[in-house]
This record gives sequence, structure tokens and C-alpha cells, in this order.
Amino acid sequence: MDHSLSPNSSSDNNGSDTIEQPQYRRHLGRRRNRQIDSDFGTIQMSSSSSFGNRSTDNVSLQQPPRRIAPGTTADTTTNIPETNVLAPGGWAVNDGTEILAAHRRPLARRRILNWVLHFIKVVVLSIIVILLLVAVGVPVSDNGMPAHAGKYDSMEFDWQLDPRSYLKPMNPNFTQYNVLLDAHLHTTYSDGVLSPKQALEFALANGYNAAIVTDHQTVDGALAARAYAEEHLQGRMTVIPGMEYTCCRIHMNLIGINESVPVHPPSPSDAELKAVIDKVHGMGGLVIVNHIPWSNTTVLPWDAPRLPNHPTREQLLDWGVDGFEVVNQNTVDLRSYQFVQEHSSRLVGLTGSDMHYPGSSYAWTTINAKSTSAKDILDEIRARRTSFLLDASGTRPVQDPPYSQSYFRYAPWGLLGDYFHGYADRSRGMYSFQGTFCQEEVLDIHNTMIGWFFLWLIVSIVVLEILYWFFRWLILLLVRLARRRR
Ligand SMILES: [Zn+2]
Ligand SMILES: [Zn+2]
Repeated sequence: MDHSLSPNSSSDNNGSDTIEQPQYRRHLGRRRNRQIDSDFGTIQMSSSSSFGNRSTDNVSLQQPPRRIAPGTTADTTTNIPETNVLAPGGWAVNDGTEILAAHRRPLARRRILNWVLHFIKVVVLSIIVILLLVAVGVPVSDNGMPAHAGKYDSMEFDWQLDPRSYLKPMNPNFTQYNVLLDAHLHTTYSDGVLSPKQALEFALANGYNAAIVTDHQTVDGALAARAYAEEHLQGRMTVIPGMEYTCCRIHMNLIGINESVPVHPPSPSDAELKAVIDKVHGMGGLVIVNHIPWSNTTVLPWDAPRLPNHPTREQLLDWGVDGFEVVNQNTVDLRSYQFVQEHSSRLVGLTGSDMHYPGSSYAWTTINAKSTSAKDILDEIRARRTSFLLDASGTRPVQDPPYSQSYFRYAPWGLLGDYFHGYADRSRGMYSFQGTFCQEEVLDIHNTMIGWFFLWLIVSIVVLEILYWFFRWLILLLVRLARRRR
């Protein structure tokens, strides 16, 4: 755009105005000031391009102000003749009129260009800021977000529930029992949030007097829990060591063992799974198949089971497993329960809270053992004499841990990262607990949503611009009215 004034515009001024084109050009693109000396005072108008070239017209009048078009940018250093350039109520009364009118058209074009450039600058800056937020927020969300409730270690469980007071065993003939067992729970030795000590105290509070601690891939949590129970919970809580054999085909609790069984590979063959079952039997332990409904749940976007290629119940019976988890958390696996009943001479049914967080309890395996020692409880499980109590509503109370301060520190970034995660679905499938995932990663970027984001960004910037100009106009108007009143 040509910012210069047409020489013709000055030639129409009866020679009273002597604008020289070179003088204009010299001042273009700089901080611009204009001083107009008139009969009525000195008007100074400056247009600064500090941010987005929002021109700021500072009008200082030594005498009462005249009506000057708001926002009219004076863009050149122009010495306009002193006489009769401005008059009350208008821009000018004589030659100055033509001069300023001639200014207006190119000025208007330049203001539009400046606004477009300013707008592009704001959009580009906004995008840079957003990309920076993504670059920091997404990694914090992925890796650096502490759990919002990091203070599990300070939790205590000081209530005492007695499920026997309101529940009857699933098998109505099973009225005599001295053991209330949780046959599946996790500690901080795998992905549980409670230490072995806390996990046992939580189980005690919920009415259990026996627990099979089954951390993923290791018996270490169970051994630590057993050591704690023997020292501090004698006669109140019996711990049977175990581990959850966790891979991409099946989760199985290996119970009554004192050392960890190696887990590999992530998707073992039938023969490898059978070898694990045989190995556990060789160690004097039992193999219980966990949560088949959960394992077979269809997961998107693969539209396939969470654990692909899970062995059938018949295969597992054939390979020699000892039983099935018939209740996991609050899910009753009726098919497995009936399968166990159909093969009651070979299979036992157990229940597990699968406790990772302190929440409600739903089921208690009932056993009538000679004593509450681990050996006697295991003997009854081997003899397949169990039933269970079920409260699908879950126990109360449930305790929430206090918020962690480190969560508050990083959450502003992490939650921002969570927000940007919404623009793409990154599905990695079930974790194998061996460093891999059971499904192939799927990345689905929502391009339409990203397009809408930028559209809304532009709309927001336009709205802010309009608001800016409106309030600027309003303030100038109020200032002018206030001065006129004085
Ligand atoms: Zn599991
Ligand atoms: Zn589990």
C-alpha cells in the first residue's frame, strides 16, 4: 500500500500548504507525531506502534477541545499552517479541510493493513504460546504427574465392619465358617497404593481375618505382609503368600508359594502356560484363574478382548488349574461359578477384592478351617470347601486420602496436558506388566477438532479486538464529556 500522500492533494490548497512528499516518506514507519498549532491551541497527536499498532491519540489541548474524529491517526509530521486550520466544531474551515480529507483515504487503507498485520501477529503469537503450553503440559501429563492423592502412606483405617451381621453365604448350607478371606489384593510392591501393613489394616477394618496378598509378578509384597502380620496381627489376620501371574493372555493367582515364579513372555503359548501351572504345583501351590469377565471385556479401538487369546475354561481345566475367581471386586462371574459347581470335584471358587486403592469391599470367601493358620486355610481351599458373602452395594465407609502437595505443584501443567490429550486418542491397550502392551498402539488425531480450535481462537481474538476498541472509544468519550463539563 502506498502510504504517501498524493502530491495533487497539496496542489489543491491554493498554495497555502506546502507539503513535501520526501518529508512524508522520511517519517513513514516510525513513531509518528504531529503537532497542529491553531488559533485554539496546540493539538498533539501521536500514533505509536508499540503493540499491534493500536494508535494512541493523545489529545492535549491548552484550550477547550474541539471535536476531533476519534481514532483518526495522524501519520506524518506535517506542519500545517497556523491560520484557520481548525475551528470550533470541526476539523477545519479552510484549506486544511482538503489537506486532511486527502489524508483520510490512504490513512484508512493503511489502518486496515496495520490491523491485518496486527491480527496476524496476535494469531501467530497465540499459536506459539499454545505450542509451548503443549510442549510442557503433555510430557508432564504423561510422565511427571504425581497421583492427586499421594498421601496414602498416612492413611489409617480405624473402623470395624462385620459382614456376618447382615450377609449369608452364597451356599445356604454353608453356615459354619471361621475364616473371611480376601483371596486377591495388591500392595505397593506392585501397583497398589497401600503398603503391606496398610493393606492388612484395611482388610481387617472391612471384616476379613485372612488375606492372600497377590502382587503382580512377585511374592515380595506377600512375604512383607506375612512378616508384619506374624509380628503385629497375631490371631487377627492370617496372610497366605501369593503373586498374580500377569501376562497378555491371562491373569492367574499363584497361591501358597514362597518364591516368585518367573513370568515370560508377554503372550505365552499354551504349553508355556501349562508349564507354569505344573511348576506351581511342584512348589506346593495352587493356581486360581482371575477375573475372566474383565480379561474378556471388549476394548476399543481394537474391538477385541482386553487379554487377547484368553484360554477357555475347558482348556484351563484340562491344563490342571485349581480354581476360578468367581467374584472380582463387585463383578460376579456367574459362568465361572457354575463351571466350578459343574466340576466341583476338581475346581474351587474364590473371591478377590483385587484391591489397588482403599475402596469398598464386596465379597468375602467363607471357609470353615480347623484353625485360622495359613496351612489349615490352604487345606480347606485344596479340599474345595468354600462359599462367599456378597454385598454388591459395597461396604462403607470409604476413605479418601488427603491431596498431595506435589500434585498441586504440577497439576496446572499436567491438567493442561490432559486437555491437549483430548485432541488425539492414543490407545496403547492393556499393559502386560512386562514393559510391553497387549495391543498395537493406535493414534487417532482429531483433525476436525483441531480445526475448530483454531477457528474459535480466531473468533476469540476478533471479539477481544472489538471489545478493546469499544471500551477505548467509550473511555475517550467519557473523558471528553468530563472535560467539556469543566
Ligand atoms: Zn489381574
Ligand atoms: Zn489383581
